Amino acid sequence: MPAKNVNSSLWEPVIGLEVHVQLNTNSKIFSSAPVTVSVEPNRAANAVDLALPGTLPVLNKKVVEKAILFGMATAGRIASRCRFDRKNYFYPDLPKGYQITQLTEPIIEGGTLEVRVDDGSIRQVELVRAHLEEDAGKSIHGKYAGKTGIDLNRAGTPLLEVVTAPQLNTPDEASACFRTLHRLVTWLDICDGNLNEGSMRCDANISVRRHGETQLGERTEIKNLNSFRFVERALKHEIDRQISILETGGEIVRETRLYDVERDETRSMRGKELAHDYRYFPDPDLLPVAITQEMIRAARSAMPELPEARCSRYIDELGLPAETAHRLTQEKAFSDYFESAFAIAGNAKLTANWVLGNVAATLNRNEISIENLQLSGPQLGEIVKNIVDGIVSDASAKQVFEHVLATKSNVADAIGQQRESLMSDERDLKALVQRVLDGNPIQVEEYRKGKKKILGYLVGQVMSAAKGKIDPKKVNQALTEILASD
Ligand code: ADP
Ligand code: MG
Repeated sequence: MPAKNVNSSLWEPVIGLEVHVQLNTNSKIFSSAPVTVSVEPNRAANAVDLALPGTLPVLNKKVVEKAILFGMATAGRIASRCRFDRKNYFYPDLPKGYQITQLTEPIIEGGTLEVRVDDGSIRQVELVRAHLEEDAGKSIHGKYAGKTGIDLNRAGTPLLEVVTAPQLNTPDEASACFRTLHRLVTWLDICDGNLNEGSMRCDANISVRRHGETQLGERTEIKNLNSFRFVERALKHEIDRQISILETGGEIVRETRLYDVERDETRSMRGKELAHDYRYFPDPDLLPVAITQEMIRAARSAMPELPEARCSRYIDELGLPAETAHRLTQEKAFSDYFESAFAIAGNAKLTANWVLGNVAATLNRNEISIENLQLSGPQLGEIVKNIVDGIVSDASAKQVFEHVLATKSNVADAIGQQRESLMSDERDLKALVQRVLDGNPIQVEEYRKGKKKILGYLVGQVMSAAKGKIDPKKVNQALTEILASD
């Protein structure tokens, strides 16, 4: 165990991430078998995935399109020509004896990712490259006594491996970087982002050096972290371990480590293989890929408004506070929901409050995502519009919201049906009266000049606005009060 009293203030951690992003195509990267996790073992693997002799890989065009989208969104250089290589190694879940990947001519090079850390600071993290490769199958341990099963359903699943420069300096930054990547690839709809099912897996490379030192220290790599919290915890742990080794005069050994979630520690898995161990060479079964201007144009027109741009627009054009804008743009579907509600309600702040308040609370309570909410963005917009127009108070709008959710009725009906009970709410009545007064300035003027009889007309106006479902005595009283007060 590393000593707990390490003097970490003398040391600067340096972290670089390699994130495997599973692309959400229907079929695999080099075969027509479906990409799915939910079938019997080896049912979603065809002859190519099983590496039967005589089969040949055929590149899935969708995989290339999705990688281009990523490169464009991160302002990387999209290769006009890229190529696949064989990475040779033996493992039972890799029947070909090699993985098809990209070493020397990746599809994307460079680019940056704007990462907002929890403390509010912004880091521009450079990306080294993003390359395409195939996933391997899975070994199933512990299911068959004394035997290991092989499931090749995952073999050939398309991956985009995104590599960051060693520019992250804290576990918080590393985890924020992973989260930002997650937001981007789901936003672009190139990955389903399902961390539990391994749709994104992060390898964290970590070294420490004395503050002021310019050379990088020797590093270790922690494999297969599949949650933001694990990235943070594993790195905290590994930083302490490395510092305590160095402070006691030891040396860091270049190796691959595993994070043990249960015991909250990292442990050595294997010595680090170097590139030459893999005997890389260009895959002769696959032609180099030419990326045409047409493909670039298609990607450009498919590009959605990106989260940072949308966030800035919310701040600059809609006048939302920065924190609100950030919270609204964490997830595209959520942000789209806000957009469609705002388009109808016309009041950004109030709509944002509703989306981040009542809507978010409902999602949390029912543990559902926004796509499964029984009340659409436009419906929420209608409810908020009724508040803006002074037809219902906030409190009554909340009741309408709950009513629509529970009964799936439309908003107008819910407001109509509830009007009687709504009108018993003091605030609603006042709001309605005020609206009628605002709409009848001449009559108000006359009333104030002493023509008290006009009150009857105003009562009638309120009654008809409330469709009669209201006690005229209460209306009379509210009108007299409001007219007397201002
Ligand atoms: P490899 O060939 O071993 O995969 P790369 O040069 O491709 O090594 O780097 C892999 C990852 O490790 C990158 O994310 C990079 O930023 C990171 N990295 C490289 N050197 C260091 C270091 N000394 N400390 C921390 N991270 C590093
Ligand atoms: Mg690498």
